[in-house]
Amino acid sequence: MRSYFIETWGCQMNQHDSELIEGQLRECGMAAASGASDADLVILNTCSVRERPVHKIISRIGALEKISDPPTIGVCGCVAEQEGSELLKRSPRVGFVLGPGQIARVGEAVRAVQQGERAVLTGFDADRDHNFHTIFRKSSTRGMVTVVEGCNEFCTFCIVPYTRGRELSRTLTDVVVEVRHLASTGLKEVELLGQTINAYRCPETGSEFADLLAEVAAIPGLARVRYITSHPRHFNSRLIDVLADNPKVSRYLHLPFQAGANEILERMHRRYTREEYLELVTRLRKVVPDINLSTDAIVGFPGETEEHFQQTLDLLREIRFGQVFAFAFSPRPHTPAARYDDQVEEATKMERLHRLFALTEQISSELNQELVGRKLPVLIDGDSRRDPKVWQGRGEDNRVVNFAKGGREGVGDIVDVRITRAGAHSLVGERCSGDGRLPVVGAA
Ligand code: SF4
Repeated sequence: MRSYFIETWGCQMNQHDSELIEGQLRECGMAAASGASDADLVILNTCSVRERPVHKIISRIGALEKISDPPTIGVCGCVAEQEGSELLKRSPRVGFVLGPGQIARVGEAVRAVQQGERAVLTGFDADRDHNFHTIFRKSSTRGMVTVVEGCNEFCTFCIVPYTRGRELSRTLTDVVVEVRHLASTGLKEVELLGQTINAYRCPETGSEFADLLAEVAAIPGLARVRYITSHPRHFNSRLIDVLADNPKVSRYLHLPFQAGANEILERMHRRYTREEYLELVTRLRKVVPDINLSTDAIVGFPGETEEHFQQTLDLLREIRFGQVFAFAFSPRPHTPAARYDDQVEEATKMERLHRLFALTEQISSELNQELVGRKLPVLIDGDSRRDPKVWQGRGEDNRVVNFAKGGREGVGDIVDVRITRAGAHSLVGERCSGDGRLPVVGAA
């Protein structure tokens, strides 16, 4: 096998795992193909958080089999962990199955296939390899860094603790060494990753996430630090203080609330109440008034009545999130909520989801409109997908900003942009007069 093509589904953790997979394939001497039909090996890096993506992956295996010279298929990610050796029965083209806890063993799986074997590597070892030098990073502006793997929360709807294992924090020293390395290569922004990142505990020193965030923010050369995902019940006052004291820490926070009614939150095993969530947001906004909040919401959780759903809409109106990732409840294997006997009708779920989307679109548009006329520092990521004469970048609060090229600016620069127009999902602006380059905060 000389060429590979990687298809990635799901969250940032999966996107980052794909970078790790690609680095290992390159170490095996393989090169990227332009598409699945040109590749000797196609990696499907999968997500099983909802049911529909799992079906899509199964049908994708079927489609790959039909290519005239069909590639070997490597199934990685959460579906690999969930289905294990069953995937070998789906197709003779599946050469290996590799769960998220075994992602550092891609080279071993490839060698097994080259020797005519099929490999199934699943499960979670207590001691996982974090050789960040093998990561193949495509972005020259921002890098993702794993901080915590897995999750111990066991929300009753979620498959993650079963497919990504129990929480495993890296040492603070390891994370800082990796971020220093990224800063030394010129990356301006890091995104720290964990399913419940603020549950972080350094296994050596007991340091918590607030300590780690403060240390990372102090690294010279780095302009911005983002982190995802925070669990409301682990968001303590020390972490709020670090946000307040460190301008390099992103003014964007993803803080899933999932449901607005306490009865539903309890059945979800979220371990906070609506009132506690609202109180946390009030405290956050007191110290960081311009924070851009995003969230996850589930509609149609078993037992959700119209009244419960109205409480979700009320919470959305009250908090006014910049972005909401909402999904209809989908029963997942192993999870308690899949066995609840008061499942909500599919049509009701869809109708509620539709109403929720209408509200969140309206709120995001209004919030973005409020930024028209403001000057924002924008980190340039690259060309806009629609127009090569336009740059696309992100503000400090993670909002997407597009603006016409024209100055001496380039990818990785942070420039001042005045916002002239706003939609629900992005902003349009123009470079402010002058060079517009800003000094990198804390640059060495
Ligand atoms: S906190 Fe809950 S929803 Fe988030 S990954 Fe863990 S179990 Fe899943």
